[in-house]
Amino acid sequence: MASDPLKLDTDVEDQWKRVRGRLRAELGEAAFKTWLRPLSLDGVSGSEVVMRVPSGNMKDWVMSRCGERLHDLWCGENDSLTGITIKVGKTERRQARREVTPIKRDLGMVRHDGGADPAAEADAFAASLDPRFTFENFVVGKTNEFAHAAAQRVADADSVTFNPLFLYGGVGLGKTHLMHAIAWHVRSRKPGRRVLYMSAEKFMYKFIRALRYKDTMAFKDQFRSVDVLMIDDIQFIAGKDSTQEEFFHTFNALVDQNRQVVISGDRSPSDLDGMEERLRSRLGWGLVADIHPADYELRLGILQTKAGQFPDVVVPQRVLEFLAHKITSNVRELEGALNRVLAHAQLVGRPVSLDSAQELLRDLLRAQDRRVTIEEIQKKVAEHFNIRMADMVSARKQRAIARPRQIAMYLAKRLTSRSLPEIGRKFGGRDHTTVMHGVKKVEELMAGDPAFAEDVELLERMLET
Ligand code: ADP
Ligand code: MG
Repeated sequence: MASDPLKLDTDVEDQWKRVRGRLRAELGEAAFKTWLRPLSLDGVSGSEVVMRVPSGNMKDWVMSRCGERLHDLWCGENDSLTGITIKVGKTERRQARREVTPIKRDLGMVRHDGGADPAAEADAFAASLDPRFTFENFVVGKTNEFAHAAAQRVADADSVTFNPLFLYGGVGLGKTHLMHAIAWHVRSRKPGRRVLYMSAEKFMYKFIRALRYKDTMAFKDQFRSVDVLMIDDIQFIAGKDSTQEEFFHTFNALVDQNRQVVISGDRSPSDLDGMEERLRSRLGWGLVADIHPADYELRLGILQTKAGQFPDVVVPQRVLEFLAHKITSNVRELEGALNRVLAHAQLVGRPVSLDSAQELLRDLLRAQDRRVTIEEIQKKVAEHFNIRMADMVSARKQRAIARPRQIAMYLAKRLTSRSLPEIGRKFGGRDHTTVMHGVKKVEELMAGDPAFAEDVELLERMLET
């Protein structure tokens, strides 16, 4: 493998653009800027793609936060890849292969012959979970105490209490964290229990692969032999009928055998549009626990806890209070802000002052302050694409009009706190599923087409200022 020459062509570069685009959309701008912008592509060596970051710290962050995701995105883009490698230091194609971290391709925990392989299983288990997403690291406050208690209860229980446990809440509020915490906890209490955690997106990906390779028996076995199944972001399979069908059967099989199922979603089971009615109702049968946006106390608590994990970097209390006060959107953004402050303090080697924090986070803070209206968004987008403002609310379906309208919906979703039905009303009384479809469409186009993504981002920036 070491002797393979590095290959870097426009195909690989295009794939890289799409991978980056996706990560950017998923992680948010703050995290992307701080940690992923410095990630660069060296090329493909044999069946591995080689990327590079400037420092070991950054590598740790990238590997722990999105190693698996990077791996999946790359493998989804390029069939010939089986692993990713991240190197540290300046690009030097012939540099000795230090710092190589391969990731296993198949994260499934049961081998395809159906027999469990404990070592492979343990590897796969650890690879699918973030080591920092534990109960110890989860800060409890008013807005998440119920979900936390429910998760703790499921993790502690020797028999199934509520099935399924359904956790829901907005993005970046700790759903994935709680799910990983359950998995770590169950495994440490009872190492023999088979726990499988997976995003709904990955579930679908595996299902489709199984269909393609006529391997559905192994697929079914893999899922139906676990003690605890956790599927994250279930809303992803909304509208994906055959995947839903398969999931429904898997779900029923497990519940019938009295195995624990834990599901997360961005809204409650009854609000999951695009889900079959029987699945929706089944999802609501157990315990449904929601997580609300963190209040000031919790935000400060989280910042203090996280800052405390870096004893060699001092962040003054007033800076933490300032952040807790200003960054109200979600915990992920809050962490992103703190990470930036920490990185800066580490770099310059002295504590961050309030002034420099403000300067450092100017874009983020502005984003929090903005109060742009849907009308402003419609106007700006109409102007940009040279269509009439009236067409934002008209019934016309030509792409030249429908696409800008979808972009405006997407921006309304991102930049305002309006709900989908509210947004639909402002676009000529459209249904919220139409809005959802529009938002998804724009996200897909952005992920696949950098020029399009740039256009939309430009609009977003103009609306922010
Ligand atoms: P979600 O899955 O709901 O979108 P995540 O679980 O990925 O959100 O959480 C986003 C980030 O915020 C993670 O890094 C997570 O560790 C952190 N986080 C969220 N809630 C808490 C909390 N209560 N205590 C500590 N960290 C939290
Ligand atoms: Mg999540």
